[in-house]
Amino acid sequence: MARQSGLVAAFGAIVGAGHVLTAPSDMAGYLSEPRDLYRGEALGIVRPASTQEVAAVVRLCNESRTPIVPQGGNTGLVGGQIPDRSGGAIVLSLQRMRALREIDLASNTMTVEAGMILAHAQAEAGRAGRLFPLSLASEGSCTIGGNLATNAGGTGVIAYGNARDLALGIEAVLADGRIFCGLSKLKKDNTGYDLKDLFIGSEGTLGVITAATLKLFPKPRAVETAFIGLPSPAAAVALLDLAREKAGGEITAFELIPRIGLDFVLAHVKGARNPLAARHEWHVLLELSSQNAEGLGPRLLDMLNAAAESGLVEDAAIAASEAQRAAFWRLREHLSEAQRFEGGSIKHDVSVAITDAPAFLEDVQNVLKEAAPGARLVAFGHLGDGNIHCNVSQPVGADRAAFLARWDAINEAVHAIVIRYGGSISAEHGIGQLKRDLLPQVKDKVAMDLMRALKRTLDPQGILNPGKVL
Ligand code: FAD
Repeated sequence: MARQSGLVAAFGAIVGAGHVLTAPSDMAGYLSEPRDLYRGEALGIVRPASTQEVAAVVRLCNESRTPIVPQGGNTGLVGGQIPDRSGGAIVLSLQRMRALREIDLASNTMTVEAGMILAHAQAEAGRAGRLFPLSLASEGSCTIGGNLATNAGGTGVIAYGNARDLALGIEAVLADGRIFCGLSKLKKDNTGYDLKDLFIGSEGTLGVITAATLKLFPKPRAVETAFIGLPSPAAAVALLDLAREKAGGEITAFELIPRIGLDFVLAHVKGARNPLAARHEWHVLLELSSQNAEGLGPRLLDMLNAAAESGLVEDAAIAASEAQRAAFWRLREHLSEAQRFEGGSIKHDVSVAITDAPAFLEDVQNVLKEAAPGARLVAFGHLGDGNIHCNVSQPVGADRAAFLARWDAINEAVHAIVIRYGGSISAEHGIGQLKRDLLPQVKDKVAMDLMRALKRTLDPQGILNPGKVL
């Protein structure tokens, strides 16, 4: 007890006593996560305001062997940002580090601190007349540090890549408290290993990201959005192929929506409306963006006409206003939330090669018929990246708890198909606690050895986010 209060006082001396939270009511919001799958305990929540303060806190943790759980916006979906129940760790919240350090228009970069909320980063880029294209449904709360630590994806990946592709430089605090100053703006730098990439996607297990230099892009001058009804995932993949041929790099979103998902949204989300006259088995939300103000609308129309003639597209609505575009996107963004009203839901954030997506979905549907009779597959998401969220809703009228108790068995059945197709069991959300024990079963043994070796080298005492990923 004396050791704990001594540590709390020492953290307070670094960040200010008011920024070490220890009262249960103050800590509660940091110790559980969006889906309430994980709850933890902590010695305290430590909230530094600068890289130097982070370094001093980490150094103290290294000396005292105190585990550190880095946390940004606490929106992660695999429990990576939540400590275990031992109560011995600190949560290191980056939320006070939210400064914009620099915008460099000539280099087309923006350097921000790790705790900056993604939506604020987008707004800062917008104020400078540029686009920062990372976009997720949690963008109002998640932080740049969390986005990089999880290598977040979202809806713009098809055009701009994921968080890793958007970072030119990283500043991070190492487990011994040293600062890795890697805030480079260079597009070309072949002087050895790309060290920033070690921290991106490492979920806080190799270092604490404190700042990043991010790529900016021109703001599109024209955006066209279509909500399209189609007969099958195979038609959606063929439409993507056609869209690539006709519109190439202008495709900025290609999202798959199943009939059942749309039905859930229409039933449970206030004001939601089907943009199409009839109901279709599958839908695609397609968005094109261009630097040319003229010509994008006609190009989209031509493409849809060609797709309709070849039987790929059954019907389509093109947004005639910004309000209509937002309404189309609301249907996509509420898919996950609407499932809550249908009882328990077992999630799979997986990816396969785009070409395999139709057969993969058919196999999942067939396997579920045996593994979970009556369960409803809601397969949706970023088809343009081969990333499909295979959420499984409980059978109508089933007992929620009994259905959720089958989480592992259903995961196993779906993941077996993913592996058979050479896919990934975590396309976007990472490993965290949720998939930690699964990882060695699905990842190459040599790759696991390399990951463990990196962890031992960068964090020999194992203080950085222990129990996560590995
Ligand atoms: P946290 O949840 O706080 O932390 C996530 C992980 O990163 C933890 O392991 C934590 O330890 C680590 N971490 C956080 N900050 C740092 C740091 N500065 N240094 C080192 N490690 C750190 N994700 C997607 O990829 N695509 C989506 O489309 C998407 N949609 C979502 C929609 C909803 C409604 C919700 C709730 C989540 C969604 N997510 C999505 C998941 C989540 O928003 C992302 O993983 C996000 O990038 C996490 O950011 P965060 O700041 O909230 O991180």
